[in-house]
Amino acid sequence: MERKRIYLSSPTMHGDEQKFVKEAFDTNWVAPLGPNVNALEKEMTTYTGAAYASALSAGTAAIHLALRILGIGEGDIVFVPSLTFSATCNPIIYENATPVFIDSEEDTWNMSPQALERAFEKYGTPKAVMVVHLYGTPAKLDEIMEICKKRNVPLIEDAAESLSSTYKGKHTGTFGKIGIYSFNGNKIITTSGGGMLVSDEEEITQKATFLATQARDAARHYQHSQIGYNYRMSNITAGIGRGQLLHLEEHKALKQKIYKQYKEAFKDIEELSMNPLNKDGDANNWLSCLLIKEGCKITSDIIMDALQELNIETRPIWKPMHLQPVFAEYDFITADGSEYSVAEDVFNRGLCLPSDIKNTDDDMELIIATVRKCFDR
Ligand SMILES: *Cc1c(COP(=O)(O)O)cnc(C)c1O
Repeated sequence: MERKRIYLSSPTMHGDEQKFVKEAFDTNWVAPLGPNVNALEKEMTTYTGAAYASALSAGTAAIHLALRILGIGEGDIVFVPSLTFSATCNPIIYENATPVFIDSEEDTWNMSPQALERAFEKYGTPKAVMVVHLYGTPAKLDEIMEICKKRNVPLIEDAAESLSSTYKGKHTGTFGKIGIYSFNGNKIITTSGGGMLVSDEEEITQKATFLATQARDAARHYQHSQIGYNYRMSNITAGIGRGQLLHLEEHKALKQKIYKQYKEAFKDIEELSMNPLNKDGDANNWLSCLLIKEGCKITSDIIMDALQELNIETRPIWKPMHLQPVFAEYDFITADGSEYSVAEDVFNRGLCLPSDIKNTDDDMELIIATVRKCFDR
């Protein structure tokens, strides 16, 4: 018999979700609008501290609408980190705009403020800067916001992976002009699929909801002055989200516990370190990652293979966007202009460990023992 699968990060339901979904069925609100959608928006603003929210069908849809709302179109430049998931930058291409990929720094693996400065020197003022809080670790927001403010450039925060993470006590996603969250299946809370766009400007979230519902002008007949999308969240989905949100802090505590367990378990192996956390933040530790010391003969592939052997799911670090065939034509900027890239180095030497909050003590023991064995410990 095959050994039980140990997951990277899978959905964890509690029962409250079904209550809200049942309510939607009982009241016949089975549509991309309804009381759960409105309530989830309200509850997300209460939770994050953002003033306004628009519930959408995906985090990617939220990023796309953020770009549309900021008027990003053909030829416009957007500075975006290279070390991220492709969904961060795909919408830039939907709008025929031009991404310029920015290298990471070593302290948090996120967008390097130095590299960002260099991008401004090379390209002048872009139409927007998009920052990502990778694996739930807040980026260096003070430095990045300072750079953007000086040049009067809007900041978009891709907080898809960092819902519940804070920076200096404030929620990630609420620093930029627009923030986005994802409720995809493997995120810290899930609606099976979904996203949220937040802002402190009501005009922005109203515009998001307008564009997400086919951009209908205020007229009895169907009139359109802009191109719209079918990006609204459904009332069923929102019901799942409302139930999940009740357990977000609990999920965060469990994710943090997993990170601490790994850190403790590998502290005597000098070839290994954990993904760095921002000293000014409180990360949700969505995924716990390992970094292997440079020159070590035990590679991330060896560790992933050893775990795979026992039906334990792992994942490579996101392959940087500047190394993707589909983005090969776009520029990539490092902090000092050299060839050496932190993003590429992290990709080469890192891996994501199982970070599923349903992992049992036995599961954790098995994962840890398997990794330790790779180093003869
Ligand atoms: C998951 C993710 C997204 C996309 O969110 P979806 O809800 O899956 O569309 C965007 N950016 C990052 C960094 C992500 O991890």
